[in-house]
Order: sequence, then structure tokens, then C-alpha cells
Amino acid sequence: MCGIVGVFSPGQQAAPLAALGLFALQHRGQESAGLAVSEGTDVMVYKDLGMVAQVLDERRLPSLLGDRAIAHCRYSTTGSSVWENSQPAFRMGAMRTVALGHNGNLVNTRRLMAELSAGRGRLVGTSDTELLTALLAEEPGTDLVDAFVRLLPRVQGAFALVAMDERRVIGVRDPFGFRPLVLGRLPIEAGETEHGWVLASETCALEVLGASFVRDIQPGEMIVLGEPGGPRSIQYAEGQEKLCVFELIYFARPDSYMLGRNLYEARRRMGEQLAHEAPVEADLVMPVPDTGAPAAAGYAEASGIPYREGMVKNRYAGRTFIQPSQALRQRGVTVKLSPLPDQVRGKRLVVVDDSVVRGTTTQRIVEMLRRAGAAEIHLRISAPPIYHPCFYGIDTQIETELIASRLDLDGIRDFVGADSLAYLSIGGVLDAIGLPRERFCFACFDGIYPVPVPYDVASHKFVLEDAPVTPTA
Ligand code: SF4
Repeated sequence: MCGIVGVFSPGQQAAPLAALGLFALQHRGQESAGLAVSEGTDVMVYKDLGMVAQVLDERRLPSLLGDRAIAHCRYSTTGSSVWENSQPAFRMGAMRTVALGHNGNLVNTRRLMAELSAGRGRLVGTSDTELLTALLAEEPGTDLVDAFVRLLPRVQGAFALVAMDERRVIGVRDPFGFRPLVLGRLPIEAGETEHGWVLASETCALEVLGASFVRDIQPGEMIVLGEPGGPRSIQYAEGQEKLCVFELIYFARPDSYMLGRNLYEARRRMGEQLAHEAPVEADLVMPVPDTGAPAAAGYAEASGIPYREGMVKNRYAGRTFIQPSQALRQRGVTVKLSPLPDQVRGKRLVVVDDSVVRGTTTQRIVEMLRRAGAAEIHLRISAPPIYHPCFYGIDTQIETELIASRLDLDGIRDFVGADSLAYLSIGGVLDAIGLPRERFCFACFDGIYPVPVPYDVASHKFVLEDAPVTPTA
């Protein structure tokens, strides 16, 4: 995952707006942050490893001048977590200047690499985004929009993009729309005559800017900002929507809307469905904070079992799932959660979480609650078991790391140490969302990949590196 923002704000500095929008998307990537800005003649890029507020601070922003900008926060899915792979990627090529921010993961990276005139030697990093940027910079065509239209049919995989040259800000969604991208309109400030526009991964970034939601960018659509007459839409490919259902289950912020659905409400309804599908006698329902909270509330309402918090989250620790190595993940969970022993001691608990990926985090949570005195622990997961890796932008690319691909339900229950375990069905997820299955990618649950993925090194996270590199974020 990653967070992306694009801003065109005539009469206003774009960098503070883009940084503020990116701050609302911090949950989508915590390894690096960056911003590209232009006043119409030059593109300037500033980026670094670290959180948005550290990288794009108040000392830095006043020097980033211009009324158009793009911004990006990174969670690595291709290439290591090093400065060279931070974004926006930037290129002054033979044909044009390009800055690019990417949310997603390409699956034909090796084939695209063969197109690059001087091969890998031209790249400073190892991300598929830098490769795409280099190809755009040398693609024939009259301008960046034309270059995109020529290049995109050869690009396969998941990509929501924000890009810019000196004059335009461009948003793109791949033909399946795996990753979200929305268009918003900035309010008119006193003395201004023209609206500004913003592109963002999620509607929560529009909210923080006071921007009104206009619409989702459609799968296979490109939007061009910075031209007279407002945003220009180009349907560069036929779209067939397959939005990542994990965005609705877990990843996106609960105050965001996707496909017209508020994600808090969708998750609360997933909890209700889970209570109907997997009831259990217990004293309390408690969430794994914070992301399990909406589904736990739904489970409590539907079951009539009281809701209570039994764990405290350190809000300054990164997401366990989002950190790029197993070692960091394992260390993260003890930093992140603490029990409330007086709340759990002697109680039969329904503990609600939104996913079990590798199982190690869940195992530590169960251990922690047992040490705090819980009498019984009944795990309820508001998503189906994850059997298959994701190649479209979530860092679960190795099947053997997924506990559901190795163990059956009883085996997982025993591994995590719970008294009982149940997952929400795919049908239950869809009932909660209230939209047809055809609109979503469920590949990590059902193994049906909308874009074929070669099971070889071409889809490996470190495909552009000579040898696997230990992430260093
Ligand atoms: S495979 Fe899973 S995580 Fe990846 S895009 Fe599809 S639903 Fe989302």
C-alpha cells in the first residue's frame, strides 16, 4: 500500500495542501514521505525516510513553491525500504520531466525493464515506480499525457498514480481499479475566481482539506488537472472494476468512503454478520485496537454481549502488518499493545480482529490476554482466511508465510492458542458491504487473480535487485 495525493490550486501554494492531505493518509505507508511541486517552469522534489510530519515539516514546506504538487507516503511492495526507493520518483529524461507517486504493484516489471534504453543501470533505486518514471521520461509523444496513453497499455498490475510535469498534475487508475483514487474540489478562497482540485487515495484526505468529494476516478481512467476548463478525463482503457476488498475490510481509514460505502459502517456490519455466523457464549466482546473496533461493536450489538476495551494501543507505534520484515513485525506487537488486566481477569472474551495474516501477532495477543487473566478467548475474525499471496500492493507475497495456507482451522486455533476461532465468510463480507462480488478483488481469499501473475521471481518484491536486500526502514 501507499498513500498518494495530487493538488492543483491556482492562487494558493500547493505543497502545504498536499502535505496535509498526505498526513491524513499516513496509515497507508510509514517508511518514507515526499512531495514534488512546480510553479509552472521547474519541478522540485523533496523526500526522505520517515513519517509525513517528520519529512514534510513546517521548516521545509515554505521552500517548496508552486500551485501544483503531488505527494506520496510509502509502504514497500517492490524494492527495499531505502531512500533511493522513496517517492515521488523523479526523472529528467530525453523527452520530458516526470515526477511520479504510485500505490500498487506491477506484475510485468521484468518485461518493462527490457524496454528501458540503458537497462537497469539508469536507475538509482529498485522500485517498479522508478522504472515507470524512467519509461515515461523517454516515451515518445507530445507531452506527459500522450506518453501515458502510449505506455499504459504495456503496464500490467495494480497502479493508482499521481504524476506531474512542470504544468500538469495527472491521476491514473489501472483498468481493474485495484487501488482507490478520488477527485475532490477545493473551496474557493476569498479573492479567487477558480476552484482548485485534489486527487487522493481516500476521501479522508479531502475532508482534512475542506474539499468536497466529486467522484471516484474510474478503472482505466486518467484525469488531467492544470488545463483551462477544469479536470479533463481520458478513458485510456476499458475498465472492469476489481477494487481490493481488503481496503474495505482493514486497510483504509474508517472515516473514508469507497464505492459510496462508509468504511466504519461496512466494518460494523461485518461484525454483525460475524455474530450471526459464529455465535459464542461469553461475558465481553473486545476489539484488537484500533482496526478491530468497528467489527467488535457490530458483534456486540448483534449478540447482545457487552462491548469493553481490554487492550491499550500505543498510537505512536507503526502498524504491525505494515512493517516490512518479520523481525520488525514480531518486535512491534509488544511495543504496540498492552492489556487492561482489571477488565479481562476471569472473563470469557470474544476478541474481534480484522485479519490473521501470519498468525504471530494474534498468538502474542492471546498470550498477553491469558497472562492478564482471561478465562476463555474466542477469536472472531471479520474477514475470511487469507490463503493466497497478494501481488497487487499488499506485502503478503510469500504463500508459506500465510498461516491459513499451511494449517486448517483447528491448526490455526491451536497455533494462536485460542479456545475457539471463526472467520467471516466471503458471503458475509459481501452482505455487509451490500455490493456484488464482481466489483471486488478477493484473490487472497479465493485465489482468483484478475491479472495473471507469474509465480516466479518476476513478481518478487526485490525483482529489480541483484539479490534480496534486508529492508532498513
Ligand atoms: S489479492 Fe487480496 S489484498 Fe491483494 S488486491 Fe486482491 S483482495 Fe486486495
